[in-house]
Amino acid sequence: MHEYALMQSIVNAIQEQLTAAQITAPVLEVGLTIGVLEVHSEAAARQAFTVLTQGTALEGAQLNLTIQPATQVCPACGHHATFLVDHFHAHDPLPLVPCPRCGEMANLSGGRGVEAIEVVLAETGEPEAAKRG
Ligand SMILES: [Zn+2]
Repeated sequence: MHEYALMQSIVNAIQEQLTAAQITAPVLEVGLTIGVLEVHSEAAARQAFTVLTQGTALEGAQLNLTIQPATQVCPACGHHATFLVDHFHAHDPLPLVPCPRCGEMANLSGGRGVEAIEVVLAETGEPEAAKRG
């Protein structure tokens, strides 16, 4: 499934960063900002995250998923519109949707790719030691 391939690359990227930074603290939360065209089903993306993080440092982390809308600027009338619902085919490389104002077919832009990955780590024992001092 599409969501699995996407989520696998994200999980891999996070694990590589944790390894590179020699971070061993458990991951509490993962915040993802993903274009709407990448995520056909938010539920499928969440399920993929749960399955793919099993047995990794990310297992059990809370997934905060933000979906970025695609935008359309109509070449005929200049109308700007945003699209958050997938009433087009997410796998279409160049989705064309009718302009809400004039009905002219126009390309969507944006709403693609993984725009941000944020990782929240569990507190380690260090603050505890600081309190004593
Ligand atoms: Zn238009």
